[in-house]
Amino acid sequence: MTPQEQQFWQRFLDLAETTQGQNAYQFLVKPAKLLHIKANIATIQLDADFKQLYWQMNLENLLTTTGYEIFDQEIKAHYVIGRQDELEQSTDMAPTSPDTQTVNRENLQAFPSNLNSSYHFSNFIQGKGNEWAVSACLATTDKPGINYNPLFIWGGPGLGKTHLLNAVGNAIQHDEPLARILYITTENFVNEFVTATRLGTMDDFREKFRNLDVLLIDDVQFLANKESTQEEFFNIFNVMFDKKKQIVLTSDRAPKSIEALADRLVTRFEWDLTVDITPPDFETRVAIIEDKIQQYDFSFQKDAIEYLANQVDSNVRDLEGALKNIHLVANLEQAKLITVELVAKAIRSRTTGAPKINVIPIEAIQEEVGKFYGVTVKEIKSTKRPQNLALARQVAIYLAREMTDNSTTKIGKEFGGRDHSTVLHAYNKIKNMMAQDDSLSIEINTIKNKLK
Ligand code: ADP
Ligand code: MG
Repeated sequence: MTPQEQQFWQRFLDLAETTQGQNAYQFLVKPAKLLHIKANIATIQLDADFKQLYWQMNLENLLTTTGYEIFDQEIKAHYVIGRQDELEQSTDMAPTSPDTQTVNRENLQAFPSNLNSSYHFSNFIQGKGNEWAVSACLATTDKPGINYNPLFIWGGPGLGKTHLLNAVGNAIQHDEPLARILYITTENFVNEFVTATRLGTMDDFREKFRNLDVLLIDDVQFLANKESTQEEFFNIFNVMFDKKKQIVLTSDRAPKSIEALADRLVTRFEWDLTVDITPPDFETRVAIIEDKIQQYDFSFQKDAIEYLANQVDSNVRDLEGALKNIHLVANLEQAKLITVELVAKAIRSRTTGAPKINVIPIEAIQEEVGKFYGVTVKEIKSTKRPQNLALARQVAIYLAREMTDNSTTKIGKEFGGRDHSTVLHAYNKIKNMMAQDDSLSIEINTIKNKLK
């Protein structure tokens, strides 16, 4: 670039930054390059063709203004798409020669990607709150390691960060089956690091991460206060970055707001693109509900969908939870059409807190649980152990301990003379299962509500 071209471009970028809004600037303007200005035509390179429309609609008058300022002439724009130079450097992404393929297939087995295969772009509903994040993820998927590296996505709980992170991984894996992709939560990263330190297997740990093609790391706010892990992560980041390997990070807050995160990491995280996700607006919530209820075999009244979209308004995970409740209540009541009343009822059952310990007879719990799982009280007390009976029995024991103040010995007696350790075992087992299985905890809460 000549000094004058440079001056032109800098002035244009300054104007764009102040007029276009941070996200648009970061995502649409900053990655562009001025190749040259010849015969009053500025040739501008964009890294994705969908961006051209935005430039035509929003930036051409700024180019004109800048042109008059610097050259005292009208400058018109000509766009070229793609980054040839960097494309060429990225060919080591997926090795294609037969030799390296075998090597990498072996490596692949050593690197289970850990992706959640149910999270895709196709089942992620776009709306105002997440459109920048989605575009950035799509662009990243297009050219891993090139378009945005690192890509940092942040936003509140239940807004789809984990979903998008996995969608990026699944899409890259689809395009590049041999790429070494790893999805990992920061918690697991910390655990693996600590374990490697303790067992003296740091070399393996480093090798695993430094050889990745794509690292998708979730919830990096958990790096806060973990100095030695931060240092190790910093090194991995640098090695991957130098090799142009893609890094995507998520967090519940912006890099700067993560307390006790080393400055050098904050700087790295902000190096390329930072986008945030905000809660979905009403239309998006309706679209999400409509998409998710397709799998159900009952129909929703339009009012009921809108009612739900109004009741649960800040978190998609809660929206999904409410839908599960609705599903359950509809099944219990054998309803075919979901009405506003049914939605209201399901939401109520979800928000009522834990019951107080009161005098609920154990027999009543056994009866209610029996009814729910279609078994008799006698069977619950028996020593028979087929699957469905065992679960019903354990749930009843769990509730007896949770909802009454009987001792474990007394509870054991009421369940066909079992001993207190069996009671404790059943109680802990259900408690753990509930933590991992939403539908089980919904079932149990429904039974609980009936007993109150
Ligand atoms: P976060 O990681 O931001 O806390 P998740 O990615 O775990 O949120 O999202 C919570 C749930 O909501 C997931 O089941 C996800 O599939 C769903 N979800 C979030 N946003 C959307 C969306 N825009 N469209 C469809 N599903 C979504
Ligand atoms: Mg998450």
